[in-house]
Amino acid sequence: MTTKYVYEFSEGDGSMRNLLGGKGANLAEMTGLGMPVPQGFTITTEACTRYYDDGQQIGDDIRGQIVEYIGKLEELTGKKLGDPDNPLLVSVRSGSRASMPGMMDTILNLGMNEQVVAAFAAKTGNPRFVYDSYRRFIQMYSDVVMEVGKAYFEELIDEMKERKGVTNDLELDADDLKELARQFKEEYKTKIGSEFPSDPIEQLFGAIRAVFRSWDNPRAVYYRRLNDIPSDWGTAVNVQSMVFGNLGDTSGTGVAFSRNPATGDPGLYGEYLMNAQGEDVVAGIRTPLTIDQLKAQNPGLYDEFQAIVTRLENHYRDMQDMEFTIEEGKLFMLQTRNGKRTAAAAFKIACDLVDEGMIDSKKAVSMIDPKQIDALLHPQFDDADLKDATPIGKGLPASPGAACGQVVFTAEEAAERGKRGEDVVLVRLETTPEDIEGMHYAKGILTARGGMTSHAAVVARGMGTCCVSGLGEISFGVKNFTLGGNTYNEGDWISLDGSTGNVYGEAIKTVPAEISGYFGRIMEWADAFRTMKVRTNADTPLDAKQARDFGAEGIGLCRTEHMFFEPDRISAIREMIVSKSVEQREAALAKLLPMQRSDFEGIYEAMEGYPVTIRLLDPPLHEFLPHEHSDVVALARQMNMETIALEAVIDSLHEFNPMMGHRGCRLDVTYPEIGAMQTRAIIEAAINVQKRHPEWDLVPEIMIPLVGEVKELAFVKKIVTDTADAIIAESDVDLKYLVGTMIEIPRAALTADEIATEAEFFSFGTNDLTQMTFGFSRDDAGKFLESYYEKKIYEVDPFARLDQVGVGKLVETAVKLGRQSRPDIKLGICGEHGGDPASIDFCQRTGLNYVSCSPFRVPIARLAAAQSALANG
Ligand code: PEP
Ligand code: MG
Repeated sequence: MTTKYVYEFSEGDGSMRNLLGGKGANLAEMTGLGMPVPQGFTITTEACTRYYDDGQQIGDDIRGQIVEYIGKLEELTGKKLGDPDNPLLVSVRSGSRASMPGMMDTILNLGMNEQVVAAFAAKTGNPRFVYDSYRRFIQMYSDVVMEVGKAYFEELIDEMKERKGVTNDLELDADDLKELARQFKEEYKTKIGSEFPSDPIEQLFGAIRAVFRSWDNPRAVYYRRLNDIPSDWGTAVNVQSMVFGNLGDTSGTGVAFSRNPATGDPGLYGEYLMNAQGEDVVAGIRTPLTIDQLKAQNPGLYDEFQAIVTRLENHYRDMQDMEFTIEEGKLFMLQTRNGKRTAAAAFKIACDLVDEGMIDSKKAVSMIDPKQIDALLHPQFDDADLKDATPIGKGLPASPGAACGQVVFTAEEAAERGKRGEDVVLVRLETTPEDIEGMHYAKGILTARGGMTSHAAVVARGMGTCCVSGLGEISFGVKNFTLGGNTYNEGDWISLDGSTGNVYGEAIKTVPAEISGYFGRIMEWADAFRTMKVRTNADTPLDAKQARDFGAEGIGLCRTEHMFFEPDRISAIREMIVSKSVEQREAALAKLLPMQRSDFEGIYEAMEGYPVTIRLLDPPLHEFLPHEHSDVVALARQMNMETIALEAVIDSLHEFNPMMGHRGCRLDVTYPEIGAMQTRAIIEAAINVQKRHPEWDLVPEIMIPLVGEVKELAFVKKIVTDTADAIIAESDVDLKYLVGTMIEIPRAALTADEIATEAEFFSFGTNDLTQMTFGFSRDDAGKFLESYYEKKIYEVDPFARLDQVGVGKLVETAVKLGRQSRPDIKLGICGEHGGDPASIDFCQRTGLNYVSCSPFRVPIARLAAAQSALANG
């Protein structure tokens, strides 16, 4: 059977979005509803995929079908392409499955040539309109199909206006526009080297090819990456007979939303222009009128439009974004789609639709993009201010929100000035644990190095502080940095957008986060539909409290090492790391014990009886070693050592590849006293809190990191259980606890049946699992991943979105093997993917019990988990 690549609007419907694209499916649906839609047909997304598979050619079979449908359209309209007496003129517009506003190309008025134009001008008696349409067509075709560029055409128009002494396009007469068309064609010939095509069929195929090609233009590729749209979806092409909004004063064109897309308030919201084509409204060349003015200008037409809008909203049960044209007093609908909206509007509209009985709460939960929640929880740039700003560089969007402040280069400075209430942005080559306080007080953090799971990124996300990382183009001088050709000194104002990675060399106003009652309602519904639990990655009582406020149902990962970031503690952990003997180490550990115990107590308290997973020490030790000479001197003094001797110890700890070096459970294999001290702190804290809160049933979960072999797990587990059991036996609390492991080394996933004989729970550490499966460093991958995106080898950062094909297979394998050995094993994820909606959907489908993510992502995860549960029934 031959594949059908072309559908008349009357052959399709709204359910055929994948094949016809959103615009095509909706045009078909509106046609089916009997609405005034100009006739046309849609060339399918499969034709676009074929175009790329065939080496950017339109195959003969597809070509044949298009020609056949042109014939049908000619019959339907009673007009003919290229016929001077009764010409069919069409628009050619893109439309993919997901709406990508403004990302791809459109060509209007196709089918015009000298003969058509001359006859058409005579027939309509409106040569001004005809030549205006013609010059627009040449301009668009040259720009979109032949990529001549717009600027020169605009210059020609400006020159013409100047010559005529007018300021408005509308003041140019038919002869002026005719002359402009001639100049445009000349310009085309100069640039392209051949005449502007006069054959409408040649024009049509040029336009179709251009739309296919535009699927891969840089802005579309970027938009897709930002919005998780796969590149193999392709775009459909809609060929539609033209209606004209520029036929005179009784014609016009406009765009409207069925509700306010900024606030969600009910009521029509939109703009229109009389005697204009669509691009004039969008391009902002003339100032459009508000849709309310249409009511005054033409009440009958307004009422007709309002009736269609109401019908469309009731039909789609969502806020609609529509394009319409009025041709000599008659209304035509050119497009409808579910409208894009701000985060605040999204929540309000969803709740209003429920209250109006249009949708149920399941639909309300499903219709909100979880990523939009970021905009509610973090400050954002003021739209008007942002419009005038140009980025000076772009790094990784490591932690969302907007920040504006004066540049500082040290964490001390950031902390000092931040405490005084000043707005500062901390700019660093990279961040280290010592910077924690400064990071906390900074409005934003900008680093030259580091990926999405680097220290700066993970810590900033945890704190909810805006962060742009891995901006390699920054070059540092003495107390200044250079970016985008300019040098910025301490005290200069810059702004960061942690959601896009953009950096601006100026102050841009920010507006604070604002959570509305609508948000709470939606989240309550989401929680009712959700089957996975949502926990948080939190290392301090403060973060734990924040996460509880956002609805976390426990802690999935407490990175104990992060507790030592604070300046008064780091010296104790350094002392422990550089200890040469067990005694020395135990002495340092003894200093750490009370700090850990009190932190854990604080965390249990903040978590109000919800489960808490605490991980034994994990990090590559170099992260904690002193780098500054003054720190080495201070530490030597504290340890009663010669500086030179301490330096020798530090040198001996140097590793070529610390991420794969002496870290994780390897630390407990070499120094069992570390695991013993941490277990003591975890268990003693739990006993103390349990006594204070008999109403809670605390069952601490002790997690052993970086396990690759069941015997190493068994070894460390024994340290844990020996220590814990002894403490519990001596206490008057019959405390239960669990011992489990992270699955973050491929070997652990592959031998999960063995591992599960020892582990009572698995938590997938997909940061390390991704790093080790791909074999590239989570801190350095940012430097080369951009080339991989450009070459379409990867579409997204595998540290941000779980690679379901490879890493996912390891997770699935481990789930299956783990459950074989221990059917009731508890399964969760605590890598950064635990806060990413697409990865959360994978976790749901794989049967995990919970996801765990940084506090500010907890609401995102709650909504995404609910959506996945609803979608997977
Ligand atoms: C992980 O590897 O996914 C993880 C959560 O641990 P960390 O990021 O601390 O290595
Ligand atoms: Mg890890």
